[in-house]
Amino acid sequence: MADHDPARDPLYPDPRRQISPQERDALIAALDQVLPTDALLHHEEDLRPYECDGLSAYRRLPLAVILPHDLAQARAALGICRERGIPVTARGAGTGLSGGALPFPDGVLLSLARFNRILELDPVRRMARVQPGVRNLAISEAAAPHGLYYAPDPSSQIACSIGGNVAENSGGVHCLKYGLTVHNVLAVQMLTIEGELLTLGGEALDSPGYDLLALIHGSEGMLGIITEVTVRLLPKPERAQVLMAAFDDAQTAGEAVAGLIGAGIIPGGLEMMDNDAIRAAEDFVHAGYPVDAAAILLCELDGTEAEVSEQVMQVRNLLLDSGATEVRTARDEQERMRFWAGRKAAFPAVGRISPDYYCMDGTIPRRHLGRVLGGIAELSRGYGLRVANVFHAGDGNLHPLILFDANVPGELEKAEELGGQILELCVEVGGTITGEHGVGIEKINQMCVQFQPAELTQFHGVKAAFDPEGLLNPGKAVPTLHRCAEFGAMHVHRGQLPFPDLPRF
Ligand SMILES: Cc1cc2nc3c(=O)[nH]c(=O)nc-3n(C[C@H](O)[C@H](O)[C@H](O)COP(=O)(O)OP(=O)(O)OC[C@H]3O[C@@H](n4cnc5c(N)ncnc54)[C@H](O)[C@@H]3O)c2cc1C
Repeated sequence: MADHDPARDPLYPDPRRQISPQERDALIAALDQVLPTDALLHHEEDLRPYECDGLSAYRRLPLAVILPHDLAQARAALGICRERGIPVTARGAGTGLSGGALPFPDGVLLSLARFNRILELDPVRRMARVQPGVRNLAISEAAAPHGLYYAPDPSSQIACSIGGNVAENSGGVHCLKYGLTVHNVLAVQMLTIEGELLTLGGEALDSPGYDLLALIHGSEGMLGIITEVTVRLLPKPERAQVLMAAFDDAQTAGEAVAGLIGAGIIPGGLEMMDNDAIRAAEDFVHAGYPVDAAAILLCELDGTEAEVSEQVMQVRNLLLDSGATEVRTARDEQERMRFWAGRKAAFPAVGRISPDYYCMDGTIPRRHLGRVLGGIAELSRGYGLRVANVFHAGDGNLHPLILFDANVPGELEKAEELGGQILELCVEVGGTITGEHGVGIEKINQMCVQFQPAELTQFHGVKAAFDPEGLLNPGKAVPTLHRCAEFGAMHVHRGQLPFPDLPRF
C-alpha cells in the first residue's frame, strides 16, 4: 500500500494525532537530548527498513525510530512521547505477519533490537532470563549444552524475538504437546507508558491476583513494552521420530488428524501440507516428499526410546486405517531433519511459485478440518485465486497461503477479501480468527465478527487501564465500534452505536 492512502487506511488516522512539522522537529530534538546518536533515526533513508513487518502489503514511515541501549533510555524516550501524545509502536524482529509492528502515522517506532542479551541461564532451575530482543532459536542454542531447550518453535525462530513471541503468543510445530508461548513463560518485566516497571508472574507455578502474565501474552504491544522475559526450559526428549503419511485427498488427511488425537495420541508435532505446498517445498529443499500426493501429514513422536517405538507402530496403523496411501518413517536423523526442513521452508518455497502470497491464520476445532479445507477449496475456485495450505494440523491452526500478483490491479484486494471469508468460515465452525499470528491490522475487521460490541468494549476497558491515553500501538488488534459499524458487522440503531462513550483509539 502506498503511504497515506486514506481510502485504504488500516489505522484510521485520528486528526487529533496529526502533528505539525514544528512539533515533529521539537520531538526529534527532545529525543536527541536523551538518546545517543546511534539510538535515534529520523532521516527517510534510515526509516525505510522499518516501514513494514512481514505483512509487507502495508507500509508506513514512522516519524522516528528509537533503538535504546538500555532501560533508562527506553523509559526516557517513552516519557517524551507520552508528554507530547505521540503513539509508540514496539518492534522486535519485524517478522510478524499481521501488521502488528506497522508504524503508526505520526508515531514513533521503538525497536528492542539492542535488548539482545541472555541475562541468566540456570540448568538446575531449568529457566532462562533474557532480554526481549533475543532470538527464539538463540535460547535453545544456549540451553543445548545442558540438554535443555525452549519448546515453542515458530517457523521464523531463526529471526523472531522472544518479546515479539510474547506479544503475539506465538506457536510452532511443537506447541501441540508443549503449549504456546504463554505456557512456557514464567515471568515478564514490562515498562508501562507511564514509565513504571512491572514484573508479572514469577518462578513459582502460580501467583496471587489476576493472571496478568497471561493477559500480556498476545497483547500485541498495546499494554506495555516488554523489557525482560523468563522462560521455562525443558529437557530434550531422549528420542524423536517422524512419520510422513501421504493421502490422495486433503479432506481425508484432515479427518486422519482428528482420528489420531481422538485415539489419545498427542504427537510432538502434527503438520499438514497440501499438494501446492508439497511441490513448492520439494522443489526448494528436496525433502523427499511424494509430489503426487494431494496432502501429507508429518507426525513427530518424542519421548523415551520405548515410548517412541511403541507409538510409531500405533500411529502408522492408525494413519493407514484412516486412508493414508503410504506411510514412511524417517530412516535416520538426517531424513527426519529433511522432512522438517521441507515444512519449515514451506512459506519461502511458496514465495517462489507466486509473485505474492497472503498468509492467513485461523483456528478451528480439529473435527472440522475436512469440512473447512473443502470450504477453502470452494472459495479459492470462486475467487479464481490458488490457495496453498501448510499448517499446524494437530492444533487445528490453519495457514492458507493465498497466491496472487500485486501487480495485477485489484488482486491484493481480492486476496484480502478471500482471506476474510476464510476467517469467517473458521468462526462459523466454532473456531477463531487467529491461531498464533495475532490480529494486528490484518484481521481487525474480523474481530467484529468474532466478538460482540459488549466484549470489544471490555477489551477497550482493559487497554485503558494500562494505557489511558491509548498511545501504545493504537489502531491494532481491537477495533473501534465505529470500525465494526463501517464493516457492516454491527447493529447501529438510529445512527447510534452501542456504548457511545467508548474512546475512539
Ligand atoms: C516465514 C515466517 C514464518 C512464521 N512462522 C510462525 C509460526 O510458526 N508461528 C508463529 O506463531 N508465528 C510465525 N510467524 C510470525 C512471527 O514470526 C511471530 O508473530 C513472531 O512472534 C514475531 O516476533 P517479532 O520479534 O518479529 O515481532 P514483531 O513482528 O517485531 O512484532 C510483533 C508484535 O509484537 C509487538 N512487540 C514486539 N516486541 C515487543 C516488546 N518487546 N514489547 C511489546 N510488544 C512487542 C509489536 O508491537 C507487534 O505488535 C512467522 C513469520 C514468518 C515471516
